[in-house]
Amino acid sequence: MTVAAHARIRTLRTDLLILGAGGAGLFAALHAHAANPALDITIAVKGLLGKCGCTRMVQGGYNVALAPGDSVERHFMDTIEGGKWLPDQDLAWTLVTGAIERIHELENELGCFFDRNPDGTIHQKAFAGQTFDRTVHKGDLTGIEIMNRLAEQVWARGIGRLEEHRALDFVATAGNEGGLAGVLLVDIRNGEYLFVQAKAVLLATGGGPTMYKYHTPSGDKSCDGLAMALRFGLPLRDMEMVQFHPTGLLAGPHTRMTGTVLEEGLRGAGGYLLTGDGERFMDRYDPRAERATRDIVSRAIDTEMRAGRTTPNGGVYLSMGHLGADNVRRQFKGMVERCADCGFDLAGGRVEVVPTAHYMMGGVEFAPDCTTAISGLFVAGEDSGGVHGANRLGGNGVANSTVFGGIAGDEIAAWIAKEGAWREPDAAALEEALVRAEAPLSGRRGDPLQLGSIRERLYDAMWDDAGIVRDGVRLARALQTLESLAGELSNVGVPDGERSFNLTWHDALNLANLIAVSRVIVHAATARENSRGAHYRSDFPADGDLAASTFIRVRQRDGRLAAEAVPVRFTRVAPGGRLHAR
Ligand SMILES: Cc1cc2nc3c(=O)[nH]c(=O)nc-3n(C[C@H](O)[C@H](O)[C@H](O)COP(=O)(O)OP(=O)(O)OC[C@H]3O[C@@H](n4cnc5c(N)ncnc54)[C@H](O)[C@@H]3O)c2cc1C
Repeated sequence: MTVAAHARIRTLRTDLLILGAGGAGLFAALHAHAANPALDITIAVKGLLGKCGCTRMVQGGYNVALAPGDSVERHFMDTIEGGKWLPDQDLAWTLVTGAIERIHELENELGCFFDRNPDGTIHQKAFAGQTFDRTVHKGDLTGIEIMNRLAEQVWARGIGRLEEHRALDFVATAGNEGGLAGVLLVDIRNGEYLFVQAKAVLLATGGGPTMYKYHTPSGDKSCDGLAMALRFGLPLRDMEMVQFHPTGLLAGPHTRMTGTVLEEGLRGAGGYLLTGDGERFMDRYDPRAERATRDIVSRAIDTEMRAGRTTPNGGVYLSMGHLGADNVRRQFKGMVERCADCGFDLAGGRVEVVPTAHYMMGGVEFAPDCTTAISGLFVAGEDSGGVHGANRLGGNGVANSTVFGGIAGDEIAAWIAKEGAWREPDAAALEEALVRAEAPLSGRRGDPLQLGSIRERLYDAMWDDAGIVRDGVRLARALQTLESLAGELSNVGVPDGERSFNLTWHDALNLANLIAVSRVIVHAATARENSRGAHYRSDFPADGDLAASTFIRVRQRDGRLAAEAVPVRFTRVAPGGRLHAR
């Protein structure tokens, strides 16, 4: 097959192509439009704009230093110490300072209503791992408020959108320029290919560790952007740092509700964790008990589970009843309703929970202005790496996507004005991307029903061998399993009949990307021979010398992965030193 011979490839030209319509993608669109209303902007999104991705799922809220007594320095130090000295300090500083501007923008320009104190100031609640109550929220459904207002503003400006379009691969420029010409996409509605030629591209597909048996992110996310970046030669960092949220709902194996998150505010408000026998256990692991950071609580639950002190479905209980059922119902309306839908009484009784893969601290290496190693390719949100280091504080995720999304929009508009130009795609690169996408449809003999089994084995391998507690033996086993799953997947064929909403085909593409990114996670976890934050190795339990901290960078070259340890630059504060804000 050649590209020329492929009848269904269409082309489109735009100034700025944004991949993903979460907090990062939509903020970038609004800022780029504000900077230059004449800019032609196109948002391509796998789902429906405003209805997909994880920003909509944000429950707990948004960290920002607003209240008297709090400060950006304090928010910064919580982020650095929570991240176990691995965050890039300039990125973390940009996050905490930018969050103030962004929260005012969300309220005053976009029209978000956040909860208030009786005196009219914004209510800020406690979140684990922070030294100040700084989490702004709208009840426990904060993301819906943010996404609805963002989507309305994007619609109001008539910004171009390609909904139910899946980005497949970046396409390099013709010749040996080493730049980016555009992106190959497929229209999920009819199976047709579309090459979008763009002066600049923003990657904002939101990562999402959906390769684990229990996970929280939205079903549209399969690490596509990270896999695309990897194939395009971009360096990824901190990929071993996968955050497990301690309290995913455990409603049995046959419901998609299992793994969905019960927010941290429940523990912040005083909820207890109990073994299957009803014993409170967190104070055996940390003096902060249930308010300890996510990594510590997840590990403690994992230990209780492995020791067999479990509930009927194999997890532990979250108990809120002692706080008063009416109080819990009032404070956590959304959570109470969600649990009731699954037959649990959160307000007055106990709910079964299990740690669940929630967030990837790792992603594409980038600078505070959202540039990457490839000119014209920018990144923001959960696809980027380096802001959080070894641990993301609850409430710093949506701040990350909205702060850096806005910055990306500003910077890209300025960049396009200075040096943006349409560049011709390399025909061989375009064809390679097309062949990869077509592969499952191209007459392979493997039964498509195998996809379910491959997914289940991927879930188990990542959960058992590259999950909350790791060691060299398990990681080697995980790598072996991933190699064999990749081999099996490359034989599975999907009937090339109906291409419209052919979800089996997309399942195969999703799995290919998930396996590719899982290999990076395992490589990075193998390379880090110490335990920091979300990454815990029972064969290397010490955290190592903080002053000599390194982050792990993984790249793919000629199909092979290579990991290297890169020293962290302490540009604002060194372990044990004093912060100097510049
Ligand atoms: C249940 C839950 C609760 C959370 N609660 C909080 C919280 O209380 N506070 C907090 O700070 N953070 C929270 N987070 C984390 C937070 O949601 C994320 O960090 C943040 O919203 C990510 O924003 P994003 O724009 O990078 O990605 P997303 O909002 O996930 O958007 C990604 C977009 O990319 C699209 N996409 C994916 N693949 C492709 C592709 N191949 N082609 C085109 N488009 C694609 C998706 O459809 C989606 O539109 C929570 C996450 C979850 C899952």
